[in-house]
Amino acid sequence: MCRLLLLLLLACPAWATPPRILLLHSYHPQYSWTQGFQKGIKDGLAGHLPVEALHEEFMDARRFDGEVDEDLLLYWLASKYRKHQPDLVITTDDAAFELLRGPGKALFGKVPLLFMGVNIPPQQPLSANIGGLVEGDAIAANLQLIEQMLPNTRRIVLLSGSCQLGRFLAAKAKDQAESWRRQGHKAEIEVWDELDLEQLRSRLAALPSDTAALLLIIHKDAKGQYFSYEDVVPQLSRDTPVPLFAMWGPLLGLGVVGGVMNDPYLQGLQVAAMALDRLAGKPAVVESGDFYPRFDGQQLDRFAIDRDRLPSGSTLSGQAKPSQAGTALLMMTLLVVGLAAFAWQRYRHSLQHPLEARVAHLKARNKALTRLARKLDSAAHTDPLTGLPNRRACDLQLNQALASRQDKPLYLALLDLDHFKVINDSLGHDKGDQVLAAVALAMNQALDGQGSLFRWGGEEFLLLLRGLEKDKALALCEKLRAQIAALALPGLPAISVSVGLAPLSRISGKSAALRGADKALYQAKSLGRNRVQAQ
Ligand code: GH3
Ligand code: MG
Ligand code: MG
Repeated sequence: MCRLLLLLLLACPAWATPPRILLLHSYHPQYSWTQGFQKGIKDGLAGHLPVEALHEEFMDARRFDGEVDEDLLLYWLASKYRKHQPDLVITTDDAAFELLRGPGKALFGKVPLLFMGVNIPPQQPLSANIGGLVEGDAIAANLQLIEQMLPNTRRIVLLSGSCQLGRFLAAKAKDQAESWRRQGHKAEIEVWDELDLEQLRSRLAALPSDTAALLLIIHKDAKGQYFSYEDVVPQLSRDTPVPLFAMWGPLLGLGVVGGVMNDPYLQGLQVAAMALDRLAGKPAVVESGDFYPRFDGQQLDRFAIDRDRLPSGSTLSGQAKPSQAGTALLMMTLLVVGLAAFAWQRYRHSLQHPLEARVAHLKARNKALTRLARKLDSAAHTDPLTGLPNRRACDLQLNQALASRQDKPLYLALLDLDHFKVINDSLGHDKGDQVLAAVALAMNQALDGQGSLFRWGGEEFLLLLRGLEKDKALALCEKLRAQIAALALPGLPAISVSVGLAPLSRISGKSAALRGADKALYQAKSLGRNRVQAQ
């Protein structure tokens, strides 16, 4: 038993066998959007799973929209993963999710499925194994943003492609245009969704300057030509006299002014946290991704957009060029000493807003990351089978209890299920797992907050008692023992537990207390099991 304890102390893996995750991407690895997802997911899983526990496949549906026979693709996935069933599947963007929800539904059976990057909201209800992050869009938010930033705009042109997603967003944009008209907004909305690249370029270049454009989704143009955001957006931006807004974060820096935009990296982190929750046995949830106001300083200057009109919490990237007025003021400060203080004030004011905005955005980002970190941290300290805090959490709490300056008595008890191996051997490991989960729940309920219960390892639990004298500690252990002995689990055999109790002394420390509890447990086993012994 001591050797077993020592082994358990030394080896403290988060997972007995690391779970396998299949990441099925709709697009290709060179696409910066997909890269954002990849990096977020991998960073979010780092330290929790070995890197090779992740399998990645790419459907490349952005370049081969509807051109690949889905049956062949499914056949290929089926043959590849037949012997290597994943424990969790994550799909990025719409095509992969549609494939696995529709024709490929049977491929991974009831394996938990997480979707992300989905613009077409999945039809409810989703089956219990499906959860994920709905990305949605920010068309309405961007129309409002344009109106707020550029109040003299007479026309807003929405640009969309002829691919399936482009058509979906174009239809949505047309509905928005209709309600926008009914609400009496000043700017007219037009949707351009049937142009080829050359037409798009020339029509954008010919727009009058009281217009703004908002990029929706373009995978392909009307001639079926692939639309590379990296190649095309900088050209479109250079040739058009109007500001180009967008909602997909990676387009920032390619010549768009900015907009209410999302961030695939943050979504990746969010989904990694969801994946760890699912692997820990938590139920599937559906969340939605965030959009933040983000802008390119150079483009704001190019279109002389007043920074005071940016929404609060906006982030600025790109080097903002010093304005002509700023330069003139700077010259004057050199020439007219009397004006120096005034010029300094102007200069500071021009810096203040973007700086504040950046701080606000960083705060928002920090908040999101803290939320995620909390989730990841909780997954790292929770035993997936029983939902109890795990051995890592136990170590922390034992250290904290020993470090506390209070002089209250501390006890720890080791609780070991009796003849548990027989349950596994006769009824199978699954039933054994059910017994473990049920026993953990029953003990925690009987404890009613009077102590902290941890899954120590295998069929052993550790109970930490603070502020109870020995007789009270013994009585509580006896209560847990009796509760387990009286447990009638439908379809599961009777079970009992042996308990060894020992004081946790601030002087002799953790190891001595564990040795004491282990010794008492050994006595309880030798005396016939289903009993409590104290040191
Ligand atoms: P004793 O009364 O002496 O404690 O006998 P025992 O059978 O409970 O003890 P032993 O240490 O021989 O066996 C413990 C068993 O618990 C062996 C191991 O396969 C099983 N076990 C450990 N972890 C898990 C688990 O997570 N799930 C299931 N189902 N079984 C587990
Ligand atoms: Mg044991
Ligand atoms: Mg046992």
